[in-house]
Amino acid sequence: MLDINKIRADFPILQQNIYGKPLVYFDNAATNQKPQCVIDTLVNYYTHENSNIHRGVHYLSQKATIAFENARETVKTFINAKSSSEIIFTRGTTESINLVAQSFGKKFINQGDEVIISAMEHHSNIVPWQMICEEKGAFLKVIPFFENGELDLDAFENLISAKTRIIAITHVSNALGTINPIKEIIKKAHANNIPVLIDGAQGIAHTDVDVQELDCDFYCFSGHKIYAPMGIGILYGKEELLNQMPPYHGGGEMIKTVTFEKTTYNDLPFKFEAGTPNVGDVLGMEKALQYVKEIGLENIAKYEDNLLKYATEKLSEIEDIRFFGTAEHKSAVISFLIGNIHPFDAGTIIDHFGVAVRTGHHCAQPLMDIYKIPGTIRASFAFYNTKEEIDVLITAVKKAKQMLE
Ligand code: PMP
Repeated sequence: MLDINKIRADFPILQQNIYGKPLVYFDNAATNQKPQCVIDTLVNYYTHENSNIHRGVHYLSQKATIAFENARETVKTFINAKSSSEIIFTRGTTESINLVAQSFGKKFINQGDEVIISAMEHHSNIVPWQMICEEKGAFLKVIPFFENGELDLDAFENLISAKTRIIAITHVSNALGTINPIKEIIKKAHANNIPVLIDGAQGIAHTDVDVQELDCDFYCFSGHKIYAPMGIGILYGKEELLNQMPPYHGGGEMIKTVTFEKTTYNDLPFKFEAGTPNVGDVLGMEKALQYVKEIGLENIAKYEDNLLKYATEKLSEIEDIRFFGTAEHKSAVISFLIGNIHPFDAGTIIDHFGVAVRTGHHCAQPLMDIYKIPGTIRASFAFYNTKEEIDVLITAVKKAKQMLE
């Protein structure tokens, strides 16, 4: 299906040894690695093209401006937005959600109103809503999930009320791997005239995202989780909504005219892009999206699903393994515990096999509280991972079990 040797050769970081053993990188849900073409794009930009954009008449500024706006078009096409005005560059998912919570919240959330999130959200999709609710005297309502990590959709319907102003929900859970039925959720929300924000941090690199087909009102993601640099991300928003929302940050770029008496604001998307943008990383993200597109998200999803099945099967053979997140529709994330061994202790031993897994609450403390656990060991896969690497993980887990039990 995929030429895995060729793909692995594209990622220089994977070629190294850790503690004298080949690096096995299974922390892809935290951030994934960057192909050489993305690294080269950054080097090329800073070597030949670096310039501030939009306001310069000189050659370099114009060149950088054209490249930057072309990248916006690439993002637009990648998620099939209607217009490039709907693509706002941010620092990442966290900033995108904060932008919506503050800007949409300022305009549309009032005292006594309600915001619906789910119990499996990352802190980034909890805290910004808590902050605006606190400011406005509004209430946060939380959709529960079942033991296997699937959302309780009946409970969701019961939470919807005339006071619900927005629903903010994750596409894919970073802690459980659950792929949520966001299309169904959006449909139900829209039947009640409620807009929906999708936290796509974990969705974007593993499933085809078509924002028009989903009909979501906002979709947020981070570049660094789709093979692009850190510090760049996207807020997609429907034009008619973004146009009604006040600016988030004030400064250069987001204005049309400024006097001491009054400022008029720029059109979309610039209204939400105050200050000098992260041009280099925008170009890096464009290259990453082109790279992913070339391999094909459908192929990626199939390959990763194979890895998930193999790893689940192999881990299941080990006695006392407990899985968290066994939903029918899952992304390539496995959260587990070995008996009563603390995840940090297990993670430390696994690390000495050269295997990078994440341990802890994965920025989802309320979710861990529901399961009454301090955290999990999480292995998350990308299309450059292999079954042989999973075998190394299995050996490491067995060793950790043997040493710590
Ligand atoms: N939401 C989810 C589901 C995530 O997994 C993450 C990153 N772990 C975020 C939001 C936040 O992304 P970032 O830190 O890149 O802003």
